[in-house]
Amino acid sequence: MSEYSLVGSHFRDVDPELAHLVDEEIERQSTSLQLIASENFTSLAVMEATASVLTNKYSEGYPGKRYYGGNSIVDKVETLAIERLKLLFKAAHANVQPHSGANANAAVYFALLKPGDTVLAMRLDQGGHLTHGSPVNFSGQLYNFVGYGVTPKGVDGEVIDFDSMYDLAKKHRPKMIVAGATAYSRIIEVDRVREIADEVGSLVMFDAAHVAGLIAAEIYPNPLFTTDGSKGADVVTFTTHKTLRGPRGGAIVSHEEYGQKIDKALFPGFQGGPLENTIAAKAVAFLEALSPSFKEYQQKVVENAKALAKELEAQGFRVVSGGTDTHLILVDLQSFDIDLSGKQAQEVLDRAGITCNRNQIPGDPRSPFVTSGLRFGTAAMTTANMGVREMSLVAEYVAASLRKREDDREIERIRKEVRSLCLKFPPPFLVR
Ligand SMILES: *Cc1c(COP(=O)(O)O)cnc(C)c1O
Repeated sequence: MSEYSLVGSHFRDVDPELAHLVDEEIERQSTSLQLIASENFTSLAVMEATASVLTNKYSEGYPGKRYYGGNSIVDKVETLAIERLKLLFKAAHANVQPHSGANANAAVYFALLKPGDTVLAMRLDQGGHLTHGSPVNFSGQLYNFVGYGVTPKGVDGEVIDFDSMYDLAKKHRPKMIVAGATAYSRIIEVDRVREIADEVGSLVMFDAAHVAGLIAAEIYPNPLFTTDGSKGADVVTFTTHKTLRGPRGGAIVSHEEYGQKIDKALFPGFQGGPLENTIAAKAVAFLEALSPSFKEYQQKVVENAKALAKELEAQGFRVVSGGTDTHLILVDLQSFDIDLSGKQAQEVLDRAGITCNRNQIPGDPRSPFVTSGLRFGTAAMTTANMGVREMSLVAEYVAASLRKREDDREIERIRKEVRSLCLKFPPPFLVR
């Protein structure tokens, strides 16, 4: 690796074995294409905050209401994070303690539902998340989830089917409707969800795990509000490490009336002591997200995603819903090669230095473990300053690797090209 390394000398002295693995991961992240839609490269400032002495402090409770002493400074740290987040989402209430997106969702369910309550959410095989009622997840075991999906394939198809959401809401009278997804590339109109929820008297939780950064940059509508500025979702959960480009973690914003319930449900209800080093890093990320350059960054993320979708189509792939409004692209491999599964494609691309994940597409004939699709995202490579020109190269590399998947030498040749492309676009941790 370069002479500059993020592995500190103490780390290297104490645990050379592990330090070497981190070196290898630095090499991997900087010489292959990071196209996993839920990943990004944080700034060095975010990483330094994560590695700060705040990791030594126990701070169960909330600013001004802690169980242990010595929290006067930590209180200021967490308050900064909260205030910045409230500003970013124009929210009356914010909780920055969830250790992850899954924990944020769990806390909201715990705050606003009782076990056995009915919840309407997007089906997993249509783009929803495990915490939206999967039978292997706590959500599916504790609550009665009913799933909505997307409209059939075709012009303007494969978008959320609000008519069926309405019918299901009428039929099942859910206590809560969950909007938001993990493999859906289009803007979800919170107005429609609010309208349906109001008609059946249910709450709305918007899981903005993927799109939080786009919301912060005002490229994606803030789901706390409808287009006319009235109440949209009651509660919005998200992760801080996807498009928002902060440390790994979660957060919750809401209207004032749910604040207390949510805080109590998260702690002492669900989690123990907060990770104040991570919370400090979240505060750094929120500050970065408040800057004008973050808006420009997110505009480029979407521009790159739209370009990559077009180029992939030109290479013979079918893009689910015909394109994207966000950082995310869901590709149907069947038009490219009916025999190629998502699992096999992911493995081939890995060998070529192209990191992405297999994903079910709506109506997928293959199992969730095998799949017929791939999911791509442009957040990380845009952070590394790649633009529309590079997206066209990326699509070429993807298509060439998959076409020549039996040819080891060809895959090796593409791997070299990918490496030299990536070296021209170093992630922030390699930029001094
Ligand atoms: C990523 C994601 C989550 C979970 O986030 P973790 O931090 O991995 O727990 C929850 N919901 C959606 C929609 C997601 O995409």
